[in-house]
Amino acid sequence: MTTDNQNTQLTDGFHLVIDALKANDLDTIFGLVGIPITDLCRLAQAEGLRFIGFRHEQHAGNAAAIAGYMTQKPGICMTVSAPGFLNGLTALANATVNCFPMILISGSSEREIVDLQQGDYEEMDQLNAAKPYCKAAYRINHIEDIGIGFARAIRAAVSGRPGGVYLDLPAQLLAQTMPVEEAKKSIFKVIDPVPRQIPAADAVARALDVLKGAKRPLILLGKGAAYAQADKEIRDLVEKSGIPYLPMSMAKGLLPDNHPQSASAARSFVLAEADAVLLVGARLNWLLAHGKGKTWGKEPKKFIQIDIQANEVDSNVQIAAPLIGDIGSCVGELLKGISAVPKPSAEWIAAITEKKDKNTAKMAETLAKEANPMNFHGALRVIRDVIKKNPDVNLVNEGANTLDYCRAIVDMYKPRKRFDSGTWGIMGIGMGYAIGAAVTSGLPTVAVEGDSAFGFSGMELETICRYNLPITTVVFNNNGVYRGTDVNPTGGADVAPTVFVKDARYDKMIEAFGGVGYYVTTPAELEAALTEAIAAGKPALINAVIDETAGTESGRLTNLNPSTAAAKK
Ligand code: ADP
Ligand code: MG
Repeated sequence: MTTDNQNTQLTDGFHLVIDALKANDLDTIFGLVGIPITDLCRLAQAEGLRFIGFRHEQHAGNAAAIAGYMTQKPGICMTVSAPGFLNGLTALANATVNCFPMILISGSSEREIVDLQQGDYEEMDQLNAAKPYCKAAYRINHIEDIGIGFARAIRAAVSGRPGGVYLDLPAQLLAQTMPVEEAKKSIFKVIDPVPRQIPAADAVARALDVLKGAKRPLILLGKGAAYAQADKEIRDLVEKSGIPYLPMSMAKGLLPDNHPQSASAARSFVLAEADAVLLVGARLNWLLAHGKGKTWGKEPKKFIQIDIQANEVDSNVQIAAPLIGDIGSCVGELLKGISAVPKPSAEWIAAITEKKDKNTAKMAETLAKEANPMNFHGALRVIRDVIKKNPDVNLVNEGANTLDYCRAIVDMYKPRKRFDSGTWGIMGIGMGYAIGAAVTSGLPTVAVEGDSAFGFSGMELETICRYNLPITTVVFNNNGVYRGTDVNPTGGADVAPTVFVKDARYDKMIEAFGGVGYYVTTPAELEAALTEAIAAGKPALINAVIDETAGTESGRLTNLNPSTAAAKK
């Protein structure tokens, strides 16, 4: 502690930033040190915050984002200026697109030099660079404003539709001083940062009317519904209405996937056949074929949309009954009137059951085949079984085929346990999400990764080992992107663009940092390794060798790949 010439005790920007985080129960920082934030991170640790240091800022940002999704508190990511900031920006943009609350805090260089473009060390106008890619961006210039600056950042991240916020901290702010007594008064806890938003009564009545008039109703649960932590209300709505439901991928487990009303095994059928669809925290974007076209059948649907963001309504098709408010409140209001909504007809339920039974039997047959070499289905049957026995495990999932098949095959039993490529379909979230999920929950975490997807964040294995996190990474190794069998048509020495080193030993990578590596080639070996690794609760990587001919181009996204889409036409 320093004093001025009147002997008043002074504090500085470093301390006040930490005080602002602490005052708001933000107790974990995911980041990467360097000028000008190294001392800030040291001080954070000394003051009792948890600092998890990464090898690349994108993964620190992804960890913060998933922590935000799990807790409804903004995940905190801290980076250095320009390049560190830009590395973190991908994660900030991804968080914003996915509606995850996080705050990217980056140190920045002197305003005077940046604004005159005089060529500072890591010079960049970070505030303006961040703006198009996040929900809000702020800079704190004066030490007296640190409390208010954090309050604005926190509120912007978690209120309304959650998202990413950028907070710019110039190096000189951290060094500024002010009297301790005054400083104390400037820091505060944000009151009611996630205020309830009650829907209007006429909007509730309109939504109930649509349900009353429906012959083949369907409820679609999105990750907004999982985020909202209104698990009981949502379960009550589904069960009291008797309406079949479909979970979007990160909403899997909000109700257990083996729930009798789940229509997942008849997904295409219900999307095409339903006449009224209640969207709960799910957007009609590309993941739902924009609410129109072949996927949605011939007859026009009546949509009810529950969302906190009013202008999400009508984004792709007309919404008959918008219901704007927080999901807990909206579902709560619908529940009050649900007894007046007739139960779905026996024909509708029977048609769905028939389709489900048929598809489930077909899938069971595929899963039971003992393919040698092991294929995606053989490996995922095992993962499905192990997750069923360990329903508390967090499951991270990315890749092309690895993502598509895993989402369809592996059931989830508890809310907010599945974290995947999300709204962007992004690759590279694997180790960041796994670290964020493991640190936030303290629970075993399994990352099911395509070999290509794993490559984006593989160096974070060192981070996992350094903090001794209970993370098991399973690499589905088929020697390449989609497949490992492409050849260079010229016969030249370079391999094809989609091909990796054959039989790469990803398991040896984790051994370099003291973790446990497994090399498996059969479902039985995979089951033994995964069971052991989860029970051990220590860093592990399972290199699961998959038939290199097994994958399909672009996974299930063939319609988005210009060449395969054209070939289909
Ligand atoms: P999915 O990809 O699973 O369909 P989306 O990310 O597309 O889910 O949709 C999530 C939606 O949930 C967003 O439109 C977002 O505004 C909304 N949302 C997020 N949190 C809440 C909440 N607490 N209450 C209401 N809506 C919410
Ligand atoms: Mg692959």
